[in-house]
Amino acid sequence: MVRAERVCKNFGALNVLKGITLEVKRGEVLCLIGPSGSGKSTFLRCINHLERVNAGRLYVDGDLVGYREKNGKLYELHPRDAAKQRRDIGMVFQHFNLFPHRTALENIIEAPTQVKKLKRADAVARARELLARVGLADKADAYPAQLSGGQQQRVAIARALAMDPKLMLFDEPTSALDPELVGEVLGVMRELAASGMTMVVVTHEMGFAREVADQLVFMDGGVVVEAGDPRELLANPQQDRTKAFLSRIL
Ligand code: ATP
Ligand code: MG
Repeated sequence: MVRAERVCKNFGALNVLKGITLEVKRGEVLCLIGPSGSGKSTFLRCINHLERVNAGRLYVDGDLVGYREKNGKLYELHPRDAAKQRRDIGMVFQHFNLFPHRTALENIIEAPTQVKKLKRADAVARARELLARVGLADKADAYPAQLSGGQQQRVAIARALAMDPKLMLFDEPTSALDPELVGEVLGVMRELAASGMTMVVVTHEMGFAREVADQLVFMDGGVVVEAGDPRELLANPQQDRTKAFLSRIL
């Protein structure tokens, strides 16, 4: 579902991604860990073309992200086609990013009605299903400020799912939450993974990574230092940098 081949990204003279190669198969969950500034968010942003890759190739569901290839040359996609690609990828951020002046339900139906041109009644019915799925059936009419952080994040997940994505990206979805609210969000993510969703998750919740992820990838300085089965990697890291990092967070 996601294939990165030697993906490089620089901001001016700053080389942030220095050749990332990895693959996430359909239905798999990949957890990405690494120190601050190692390029985790940048890599996620490249996957849905919020950032443009400078070298290497990135494919989602077989399609080159952001580009069209012709006779071995790459041409940037028309913004309209790039937007169409992005529509199939759900993204959840650290800071929920809900529209503050809209209710939970209105937040969820926004993109389906505006972008997909779904009928309002159909979008509302689907939004109610999704709210139930994330355990918030009774919060449809609440505004974000009336919800806890964990509830807001669950609305944000429901909002992403409302576009029927084939891939979900999570960038530290629980790191802004009070500790007692982390579990409810991880629970929703766990169920999503069990339902077969393909997911790339930047997180330092190692319990989640150990139990849910098919692959754990440790990034440092814009490269993949070590990757593999989460239990194996956590129990028996091979690289000194991985060992040092894990000893700081575990
Ligand atoms: P954190 O754990 O703190 O979220 P991260 O691994 O997600 O870190 P990134 O946000 O990907 O790291 O940033 C990697 C590097 O790229 C950092 O040095 C950052 O300052 C730089 N960077 C990110 N976005 C930009 C940008 N738009 N312009 C310039 N530099 C950027
Ligand atoms: Mg980040």
